[in-house]
Amino acid sequence: MTPAAHSISSDALDEQIEQAARLMAGARRSVALTGAGLSVESGIPPFRGPGGLWTRYGEPPLDGYQRFLADPARAWRERLEPVEPWAIGLRDTLVAARPNPGHEALAELERQGWLHALITQNIDDLHRQAGSRALLEIHGNHRLVRCIGCNRRSAPESLELDPQDLPPRCAACGGLLKGDTVQFGEPIPCDVLEGCWSAVEQADCMLVVGTSNTVYPAAELPLAVLRGGGAVIEVNPHESDLSPLPTLVARGPGGEVLPRLLDHLLALREQPGTLHPPERAH
Ligand SMILES: [Zn+2]
Repeated sequence: MTPAAHSISSDALDEQIEQAARLMAGARRSVALTGAGLSVESGIPPFRGPGGLWTRYGEPPLDGYQRFLADPARAWRERLEPVEPWAIGLRDTLVAARPNPGHEALAELERQGWLHALITQNIDDLHRQAGSRALLEIHGNHRLVRCIGCNRRSAPESLELDPQDLPPRCAACGGLLKGDTVQFGEPIPCDVLEGCWSAVEQADCMLVVGTSNTVYPAAELPLAVLRGGGAVIEVNPHESDLSPLPTLVARGPGGEVLPRLLDHLLALREQPGTLHPPERAH
């Protein structure tokens, strides 16, 4: 096990993680919600604040989606060859980032049947790269392309992009294709939002990792789990808006806490006769 490298004592954190493991082992269906804190551990700065991407490179326009609709061909040219400093900075940062042990532990929790859905506010693709499958990317994925008509998503490599014939159109419905990342001014795609609510309604346990829980609608999801009588486990080295609520807290970074949580769950599985098995993920 990795030694704890923060203010809380290793023993206290280990006790928190063990309690979290017992909660998850006894839960019928668990879901996770992840936010920017987990990406920070992979070298992606937050957007705002000191050292933030927008602080360094300037902010994207607040009417990005309206600009896309007004001139989708231009928006596509800018996607293919970014010129704005914020767009270049974001692209270079995302290309360099790799999943950390927290992403990998979440993917393994899913494979082992302890996690049934993973809702993320991050656009960086790191959960996919780590192997998570039951993913709900609430703000989209910077690598993917989405049809604004039917929400079908595809990898841009699968499209035959002709720079002389932009914007590309959906092969299924003829709708406009855009980058999957939800822009300022753009509604969250309804299929993802419905998936989130459906996952939360069925969940009796939620793992909330690296989010300040201030951005809606994602911030509403753990509150809904609590209202439904479920348990919320907060994994965060910092206090968040969730901290005053009756949650179980593991006060440490996801990259350290989640692998240890996985270890505890695997150890609990070896202890016979105490806990019922979770439903299989699907
Ligand atoms: Zn379509």
